[in-house]
Amino acid sequence: MHLRDALRAGLKRLLEHDVASAHLAAELLLMHALHQDRSFLHMHPDQDLPAEQFDRYMELIDERCTGKPTQYITGHQEFWGLDFEVTPAVLIPRPETEHIIEAVLDLIKREGRSKQNPFRIADVGTGSGCIPIALAKELPAAQLYATDISADALAVATRNARRLGTAGQIKFIECDLLSCLLTPEFLGTFDFVVSNPPYVGHDELADVQREVRVFEPRLAWGDLAQGEEIYARLFPQVQQLLKSGGSVVVEIGYDKKDPVLSLLDEGWQEREVRPDLAGIPRVITARKTG
Ligand code: GLN
Repeated sequence: MHLRDALRAGLKRLLEHDVASAHLAAELLLMHALHQDRSFLHMHPDQDLPAEQFDRYMELIDERCTGKPTQYITGHQEFWGLDFEVTPAVLIPRPETEHIIEAVLDLIKREGRSKQNPFRIADVGTGSGCIPIALAKELPAAQLYATDISADALAVATRNARRLGTAGQIKFIECDLLSCLLTPEFLGTFDFVVSNPPYVGHDELADVQREVRVFEPRLAWGDLAQGEEIYARLFPQVQQLLKSGGSVVVEIGYDKKDPVLSLLDEGWQEREVRPDLAGIPRVITARKTG
């Protein structure tokens, strides 16, 4: 069988099972089965595929047809141009979360500060570690503290930081929100606190697609009654950690702009809402007054 025919067979089965982005999944899984990159698939469509490899490929396709996200099958997801290991212990990094990185870089630029400054930054609920690792790459002198309540997630994040050469800049800590950093040594010393917290409320469960609901860790995407409680717990802790003039940068759910903004009232200024590429309010930033 030729590579092209295998791809066609994989695609057909994915489409029969209504898998979203079936073309992309068919290619990614074939790349994974063959340990090859995309250009190889495109340059050698007539390459013969041994039956054993074809069978292996179709096994991966069947796994995807159960609803398991492609990234948990291949073990990889790209974020900010970097390759991250992902396992079912972590949320799969989303492209819209890159707006958090952009927002931090914009705020630094706007203040006229150099990217070489030794910024002190905390990331709350780090999951795969995608946010602090991307920030460490952009801000080479920054010291980052990344927390997560899940030890399994932190193990993945630690491996990612090592593999991507940023382990020396990031301290990973197992704790709830920022509780482990609320000590005299840290209070009032942070330039930024960032977070993409779990924000899907119970009332929205019905809208959550199967891939997320069944396969991604509930602890990472939503566990809360309304979805905004986590911000209500988080912001007072952020206030304690930030320097005056320091900024909070958080991702929000598609309808969370007003409830989250209303939590950033007293003690905050320059509140801004940034839309994602689909025009949905996605990232909120605010500066601590002082
Ligand atoms: N910070 C990680 C991400 O943005 C994990 C977020 C989470 O688990 N809620 O992908």
